[in-house]
Order: sequence, then structure tokens, then C-alpha cells
Amino acid sequence: MKFPILLPNIFNYPFTYESDLNLKVGDYVEVPFGKSKITGVVWDEFEKKNNKNYKIKNVLKKLNVPPLKKTTIKFLNWFGEYNIIPKGMVLKLVLLSSNAIENLQTDTFKIFNKSIKTNLIELSDEQKKSLKKMNISNEKFRVHVLQGTTGSGKTIVYFAALKEIMNKGFQSLIMLPEIGLTSQFEKKFLEFFGFPPAVWHSGISKKKKEVIWSGVANGDIKVVIGARSSLFLPFKKLGLIIVDEEHDQSYKQDEGIIYNARDMAISRASFENIPINLITAVPSLETFNNMQKGKYSFSRLQQRYQNASLPNYEIINLNETKLEKRSWLSKKIIEKVNFHLDKNDQILFFLNRRGFSPHAFCNKCYNSYSCPNCSINLVYHKNKSILLCHYCGFKSQLKRTCIKDGECEIIFSGPGVERISEEVKKIFPLKKIEIFSSDTMNKKDSNNKLERIINNEIQILVGTQLISKGFHFPSLNCIVVVDIDLSSQGHDLRGAEKNLQLYHQLSGRAGRTGKPATVYFQTYNNNTKMISDLTNSNPDIFLDRELNIRKQNKLPPFQRFISLILTGDNEAKLEKESYKFKTFIENKLTGKILGPVSAPIFRIKKKYRIRLLIRGTKTLKLQNSLATAIPNYKFQPGIKLSVDVDPINFN
Ligand SMILES: [Zn+2]
Ligand SMILES: [Zn+2]
Repeated sequence: MKFPILLPNIFNYPFTYESDLNLKVGDYVEVPFGKSKITGVVWDEFEKKNNKNYKIKNVLKKLNVPPLKKTTIKFLNWFGEYNIIPKGMVLKLVLLSSNAIENLQTDTFKIFNKSIKTNLIELSDEQKKSLKKMNISNEKFRVHVLQGTTGSGKTIVYFAALKEIMNKGFQSLIMLPEIGLTSQFEKKFLEFFGFPPAVWHSGISKKKKEVIWSGVANGDIKVVIGARSSLFLPFKKLGLIIVDEEHDQSYKQDEGIIYNARDMAISRASFENIPINLITAVPSLETFNNMQKGKYSFSRLQQRYQNASLPNYEIINLNETKLEKRSWLSKKIIEKVNFHLDKNDQILFFLNRRGFSPHAFCNKCYNSYSCPNCSINLVYHKNKSILLCHYCGFKSQLKRTCIKDGECEIIFSGPGVERISEEVKKIFPLKKIEIFSSDTMNKKDSNNKLERIINNEIQILVGTQLISKGFHFPSLNCIVVVDIDLSSQGHDLRGAEKNLQLYHQLSGRAGRTGKPATVYFQTYNNNTKMISDLTNSNPDIFLDRELNIRKQNKLPPFQRFISLILTGDNEAKLEKESYKFKTFIENKLTGKILGPVSAPIFRIKKKYRIRLLIRGTKTLKLQNSLATAIPNYKFQPGIKLSVDVDPINFN
């Protein structure tokens, strides 16, 4: 008999193989491909235009793994169509590698499968009401949004929902945006359920991946917490998906296979016909729009734990209090911080910039240190004493012969967290100070550091936006936003929405145990409206207004954007090609094409970048017309196209 077998490679269709085995859709098989052996899956449909004249080979063997579910296959097909990704590449996301599932480790997953604890943590009345609303229809697909102010105990509510699903014999997936630092979350989980969750992300070992993959496929692992890629695990009996911090931009994978894991989680739930819960303090505009339209049900938590109130806000006008040269902290803010330190409060200085300084240049020849591979300045990291490109990882020493005479005389313009931390150390020499950024926290000893922060053994933190992600620091009662004006820079269509979410999340770190807390904003801007918008305890007012602006301007979520990025080594050739390509696809699409324009960061990793933006209605027709057109265009050698459906990043 003939079978369509999808292989994890760049082809958009299954290959035809022959076998006497009794194979069913979803079975994993080993087949010959070229000169090698490769793992594939029996797919649901043969290739449509099967007119090639090649020799049909035999399936080598069927692998002893529970089959991929038909509903999951349907989801994968749709995923490829929506994101304009070949089906084979989508399958690659499911398989660990082209032959990893042959000899799966299955011995150690038993630890994930202990009996569930019965002593429930008592929910408040508000939480109970919310849970009830969340659980109204749990038998089929529906989207429910749990919107709760920071520190209101959203996690406990969805844990309780998850427990009910688990007791009915289903598996669950909890997606988290920042998976590197989950020790606090895992502890909470263990406390609630009495067994640890299986944690899935790209950084775990190959062996652990195999253990979790097979445990999920066998149905032995009940709960996975995972990053974006956990969405492609082959669950045997998935009953619930939870997307925590659904508004978080890191759900968007914007390199390689480009997709939005939050949106794709919703569509997986729809194909599997199971419920999905989105959790957030300030929903994304897409989600907010669907709540308004009644497409998503929602419940709200307004009380913080132990009735703690939200922090107060104070604006420090930097025009009134002159800063010392090469200093970023005003006398007034130092007074305020001293006041908090006297009360044993933990302090956070927030600045969303890694490293010491974002811009280094010479005082004699005025040359900047910029990346040779990208059109961007190198960031000086004093702790490692290197200049670093945040886009390609290029490293360089801070030493250069000057074109004027001798060595360059380096001036640093503007601060990063390292520079602020240096200033803080000078002002508070007796305090323990720690930088909280991806450079210092995604390391092996970060759990130990977290523990010390939780115990207030570290009195002052200097942190980037990494610290806004769901941490619970009981003594943190004072946050200083070093430069709020920085946040209003940029030309991002989602800038306002992003800031609202960031500052809500950030201020939510403060005052979590009932003590009074304050967030201070240093600003040169006399217009305080932005800050009062960002700090309004009812974010809906702002979201409503923002949604209206998007509607008037025909922006997402009212229209679909697809971004096309052409890259190449030769600037002139690339520009010519981008016009040619635009003309070629123009009358083949159902949408309107804007551009070509140079990307804001014109060069990354030695490649020049030109963007086209397609705007159209929100139907799959737009993707289909594009997917049909692209393969018929022959790009000049060296020019590459990448497609980003629903782009978030416009760099
Ligand atoms: Zn670079
Ligand atoms: Zn110089």
C-alpha cells in the first residue's frame, strides 16, 4: 500500500512511500531519504499534484511511539499555511531531530507523575468567583481571559482550574514567557500540586528533552510548563492550555521559523477542541479587542494579596533639580531612597539598558565604536571590559589608534545598568547591590541570587525589564525609574501598548506584602500625562483609546500585516531586487504593498535589509496568495526573503 509520509525538511508536502505494514495516520516511521535514514510521520493527505516520475521506496520500520493525533496534524497543517512555513519545517518543530525519537529515554519521567495533593490553598471569594467563571465550559474550545492586577493571585486561580482538568485524566500545558528563571514558579507549583512540573525549553539537555517528549506522548506526564517551543509537544490527551502573561512580546519568535506562540496556542486549542486560558494584568490589544467583542469570556481580580494596595506614584522633575555631571540620580531621589532604606525596604533602580553605556566615541576624532557587521553602536560592558553588539554578538576591545594622534580618548554617552550601579555604589557604599539583567541572571548561580534577593540580603537592585517578569520580592517597596523619557522614544506602532504593560508589570513588583510602596519616575518632560496614563489603576481606559486609534488608522488588530524582509550582501543589488520583487507580487496579492524601505537597522550580521509591508484583510486568502506567488519568483543568488506574519518588531 502507498502512504504519504511527511519528513522534517524544507518540503511543503509529504512524500509517497510503500509498505506492507498496517500504518495509520500519525504513525512515526523510519524511511530512506537520499542516502540516509530519516524519521517521518504518516500524514493525512497525499501530495496534491503528484506527477513526478520517481521510484517509490519502502518504509523501513514503524517506530514504537504513540501516534501523533489527527487533530494535532490538522493544527500543524494550518500553522504552516498561516505563517507561510513549509509543512516539513513545521514537523521539524515536533520531532526532536531527524532521528532522535528512535531510542527514547523513558525511565525517569515517573517523578512528574506523583499523586496530586489534596489540601487546597484557600481561595478568596473574588478568586473563587473568577475560577467559577473560568470553568463554565471546559469540555470544548473557548478562550477565557483572567485579567488580574499584579499580586492578586492569578496563578493560584489557574492552578485550581488545572487541577480539575487533571483530575479528569487530561494533560495540561502552561506557557510562560521567561522560562530561564522559573525556580520561584516551580516551587509554587510543587507546593500546590505536591509534584514538580516537567519544564521544557530550548536550554534543557537532550536527555531531558527525550524524557519529557516521550512522557508527553505516552500520556504519563500530566503538566508541562514551557516556552514557545512546548506548543509543538505531541500530547496524547491535552485538556487545557494556559498562556501566562499573554501580552508578553517574547511569545513572538522572530528569527528562523517566525510565529506568535500565544496566537498559535489559541489555534491549537481550537483544533484540539479544548479550553485555553489567557492570563494577564494588562491584556494585549488583540486580546482586549476580542474581550470587547465578546469573542473571549473574561473574569477579573482586583484585590491584591492581603489587600495590599497598589504602589503610589511620584514624579521627580529633573528640570527642577540639577544633576551633577555624569550622574543620573537626583538629590531628591537619593533622599527618597534613604527614607525607604531606613524602613528596611528593598530598592530597585530600573533602566531598560544592558551594559555600561550604549554609545562610546572618541573626543579627538569623534569616531563612534560601531559594529562592523551591523549598522548599530556597540554597547560597552564594563564588567567584562568589552564592547558588544547586541544583534550579532561581535566583541571588541576598548582600544583604538586615533586617526588624529596616539590612542583614542574615549567618552561614554548615556548610561546602562552597570553605570547606574556604579553611581549607586558610590552613594550607598555599605549596601549590597546587584545588577538584574540577562547578562547577570541567566547563569547557573542565578537561583542562589534570587534566593538572596527574596530574603532581602541584597538591598538594592539595578535592573532591566527582565525584572518585570513575574518575580515576587517581598521586601521590594521602592522602585526608581531612572529615565522614563527613554521609553517614549522609538517609532514602534506598539510602543504605547508595550509601555503600559511594562510599567504595570514593573510597579506590580512593589508592595506585594501589604507595606506601602512607591514608584518614582525621573523625567525632564513636563507633560505628566504619559505617566498618569501608564499608572492608571484601570488600564482599560488607555486600551480603549489605543484601540480606537488603531481602528481609525487601519492598523492591527483590525487589519493584517505581513512583513517581508529581503536581505543580501550587496546594497545596490538588493535595492533593485526589492523593486523587482514588489512588481512581481503586486497584482498577485489580495493586499496592498507598502515599501520597499530600508529597515531601521539597515544592516545586521553583514546583511543589508529592506522591508516590504503588506496590509490586507484578516483572512487566510492573503497568506495563500502570497504562498502561491513566492515560489514562482527566482531571487538573485545571495538574496534571501523572510516572511513575518503579524509582525511585532519593526526593526
Ligand atoms: Zn553586530
Ligand atoms: Zn580617536
